[in-house]
Amino acid sequence: MSTIFSKIIAKEIPADIVYEDELCLAFKDINPTAPMHILLIPKKELLNLSDAEENDQALLGHMMIKTKEIAHSQGFEDYRVVTNNGAGAQQSVFHLHFHIIGGRSLNWPPG
Ligand code: 5GP
Repeated sequence: MSTIFSKIIAKEIPADIVYEDELCLAFKDINPTAPMHILLIPKKELLNLSDAEENDQALLGHMMIKTKEIAHSQGFEDYRVVTNNGAGAQQSVFHLHFHIIGGRSLNWPPG
């Protein structure tokens, strides 16, 4: 089932887009938890990381490589990439997304 992120991909609802190519889209989180809080999503509708399969390897690799470019474009060298996989892990939007977070000191482990 499509989510609000599909509407953002289709430009049916606005988002502050910071990067886009044929495979993925990155935009600012509407409720940022840090000075930089970007969501990087595939244009392909995958529910979450568990929904990805062998034939998604190139897509996922592409997105991981792009995190650096996206963070650098926002002025940050250090950043965290995290995905919440499933409701029990606090996933609230069921379209795969990687949070790219930075711009403040980050604690570890996350809660
Ligand atoms: P999750 O909890 O699923 O890991 O993360 C979903 C993220 O999507 C949250 O950080 C939330 O603030 C963000 N979000 C939800 N709806 C929208 C929206 O319509 N636009 C944007 N830019 N971010 C959204």
